[in-house]
Amino acid sequence: MEKSIIIKTGRERSLRRLHPWIFSGAIHSVIGSPVSGDTVEVLSSDQRFLGRGAFSPQSQITVRMWNYNADEPIDERFFANRLQRAIDFRKELLSDPKTTAFRLVNAESDGLPGLIIDKYGDFLICQFLTAGVEKWKKEIVAQLNALISNAGIYERSDVEVREKEGLPLVAGVLMGIEPPNLVEILENGLKFLVDVKTGHKTGFYLDQRENRKLIGNYAANVEMLNCFSYTGGFGIFALKNGAAHVTNIDASTAALEIGLENAKRNELPAEHIENVAGDVFQVLREYRNANRMFDLIVLDPPKFAETKSNLEHAARGYKDINLLAFKLLRKNGILFTFSCSGLMTPELFQKIIADAALDAKRDSQILRRLTQAPDHPTALAFPEGTYLKGFVCRAE
Ligand code: SAH
Repeated sequence: MEKSIIIKTGRERSLRRLHPWIFSGAIHSVIGSPVSGDTVEVLSSDQRFLGRGAFSPQSQITVRMWNYNADEPIDERFFANRLQRAIDFRKELLSDPKTTAFRLVNAESDGLPGLIIDKYGDFLICQFLTAGVEKWKKEIVAQLNALISNAGIYERSDVEVREKEGLPLVAGVLMGIEPPNLVEILENGLKFLVDVKTGHKTGFYLDQRENRKLIGNYAANVEMLNCFSYTGGFGIFALKNGAAHVTNIDASTAALEIGLENAKRNELPAEHIENVAGDVFQVLREYRNANRMFDLIVLDPPKFAETKSNLEHAARGYKDINLLAFKLLRKNGILFTFSCSGLMTPELFQKIIADAALDAKRDSQILRRLTQAPDHPTALAFPEGTYLKGFVCRAE
């Protein structure tokens, strides 16, 4: 008997809309004893074929859909086709001589649930986040290697979400040579060192590429405060476009140090940069108490809301730093403010920013609405794929 699952009556709606997740509560029965990572046929309550997915009994998301097509088996060719499709629509980026780092595969939104592949120069850095892609790792790596020329393919599956799938945290070479500790990339003509082996995510926040470029438009002669700076990205684009001075704040001294090296590689004078290792919440309060002011402020915090239950707490965090930022802005100052929590809707985020401006007594406007770069697409069937939102605000 085929390994399969039968969906409860009335729980097929999201599948018919091609949403890729089946939660445990929607499953009526499991047939044929599939184990973690196995491909299962997904059947309606009256036993009609709906699609195929990867089984992950430990996860609340018990099945992630591979396809909805009875004529397309899940095999090596399936993965080759999906990878090719992801690479094809990124062709323009791939051939841009000014940018050598971007996301090749964006998981669910590229039809490959749980798989992240980022390209940094000649190296491909992968995350296998779910039981399904874990099972097909060897085939995926072989196909990837055949499709994209590279010096090495490296795995960064050292992420906690793997535990929800019952998978161990692992990292290491999958094919080719091991990348150096710091890989140099180009982003819109500027150089960055990326710690692909121990840096955040796969080493760099590629999703902010377009927004880092945009900040150049607001940078002439400004004194800038770059909060949650990581390796300096927004500050380096600002300095290259005429900013007079940048203060970076980040909790990670390792990231700040790479940031200094990044500044050097782009021939930026060290005296135009101040690095503060510390907690943004605390440092912003100190600056407020000392009446320190800035013309341009970036707030690009980590994900504050991980679950629905801490959304309210997260909202207070966003309000707090945005209120302080509005207080530190000079007249006609500009604020780039972001949230990368998927659970935070753009509407709620806008309300929080409005409350922050109100409490800071700053009359303010949204000049632009920002999101993730186009190599991080969102499948229309998977609205959860849009997580990054931001506003460029101007304060009177
Ligand atoms: N803007 C960056 C990405 C920021 S990611 C870029 O363009 O590359 C978020 C950063 O916030 C991480 O570098 C993390 O080290 C830092 N961070 C997290 N919590 C912090 C806190 N409370 N205070 C200061 N930095 C923090």
